[in-house]
Amino acid sequence: MNFKLDPAYAEIQEQARACAREIEPVAVEADEMSQVHPGVLEALRQSGLSRLMVPKQFGGVFEKPDPLAICLVREVLMGTSAHADSLFALQGIGSYAITVAGSDEQRERWLPRVAMAEDLAALALTELETGSDLKALKTRITAQGDSLRLDGDKSFISNAGAAALYLVLAREDEGYTLLLVPGDSPGISVSPTPEIIAPHVLGEMRFDNVKLPADARLGEPGRGFDLVLATLGVFRVSVAGAAVGLAQAALDEALRHTNERVQFGRPLARLGAVSQMLADCATEIEMARLLTYKAASEAVHDPAASLHWSSMAKLAASEMAGRVVDRCVQMMGRFGLVRDSKIERLYRQARPMRIYEGASEVLRQSIAKQLHQSTGQ
Ligand SMILES: Cc1cc2nc3c(=O)[nH]c(=O)nc-3n(C[C@H](O)[C@H](O)[C@H](O)COP(=O)(O)OP(=O)(O)OC[C@H]3O[C@@H](n4cnc5c(N)ncnc54)[C@H](O)[C@@H]3O)c2cc1C
Repeated sequence: MNFKLDPAYAEIQEQARACAREIEPVAVEADEMSQVHPGVLEALRQSGLSRLMVPKQFGGVFEKPDPLAICLVREVLMGTSAHADSLFALQGIGSYAITVAGSDEQRERWLPRVAMAEDLAALALTELETGSDLKALKTRITAQGDSLRLDGDKSFISNAGAAALYLVLAREDEGYTLLLVPGDSPGISVSPTPEIIAPHVLGEMRFDNVKLPADARLGEPGRGFDLVLATLGVFRVSVAGAAVGLAQAALDEALRHTNERVQFGRPLARLGAVSQMLADCATEIEMARLLTYKAASEAVHDPAASLHWSSMAKLAASEMAGRVVDRCVQMMGRFGLVRDSKIERLYRQARPMRIYEGASEVLRQSIAKQLHQSTGQ
């Protein structure tokens, strides 16, 4: 067992830290925006980090997107700006199905531009009436001769309105197909999603008689869920990476504050209850980080087979981030409540992580199912 990161990964961490330093001065304003912040996007482009999201052959870094590298970058970016973390993550989440199932023409057209963050990507699964139970979705594909027609609505879609390409999951006959839909296709309209607790580039999408060529289907007709699962295999663990980064940033804030602020003649950090909370935070972060790196390393070798590891890591790390950031606010007293202070931002940003890419309860269900299957009980 070797718990040290290989030099190639350590180098990627350094690149991510350099990008985070560029973004830091505008992080507060970017994290309040529900449109893309041009400065953050430019910093991401200049960093070249999105190259991690596509295969080397199309301008990427590794032979295929590497879950551990992606995790490490999200850990760093989330500690500085949720906006930057989301822009980075979506480049992979919204293009991975092209990498695994796109035609040569589709890969050549889209992936190099995704790698340079010239085109933003998005994945549209959720609908107003359909969240965790995705199989109930209603958006529909109808074959019309050599072309396809897409009709329906999607809700809470990250990068909606900003993306150049959307991977849209829709019902086709008795199955579900993932379609590659260029953002400028006639018949697409986008309206704002209501503002959420931690602003995010989100939109409601409508597809009204959108005409697409037959090769807009990614993979076989009716096999769209396979591609969604393949995407989760690589990217679900990266949410855990982001949660670890968020919790670490919260602890760093609380450590700084409790060492500087004196009450009862001593720094807060030296008061019994506060030092206990600091110790609990550090221990829980380290536990989640170890599980996250383990799950990401498993996913490097076999993303599909290791989805249960990724689910455990996402569950553990997002729940941990909620507990840690709450304790950090507590340790900082009234200063932890100040609107748009770093800790208050982290407090709000931790909350959605337990809901998107698999709500905690849904993950527990799938982890328990895996336990039953593997033990035969
Ligand atoms: C910031 C943000 C960004 C998002 N970006 C995207 C995006 O880019 N693309 C996209 O398609 N979607 C996106 N979503 C939507 C997200 O994927 C859904 O919110 C998520 O799938 C949960 O669906 P829901 O919110 O409809 O909750 P529901 O499915 O209504 O579930 C509500 C709650 O019920 C419980 N529950 C549900 N099912 C079960 C079960 N089987 N067992 C036990 N308990 C259960 C859980 O506690 C869950 O939190 C985003 C959401 C957010 C908040």
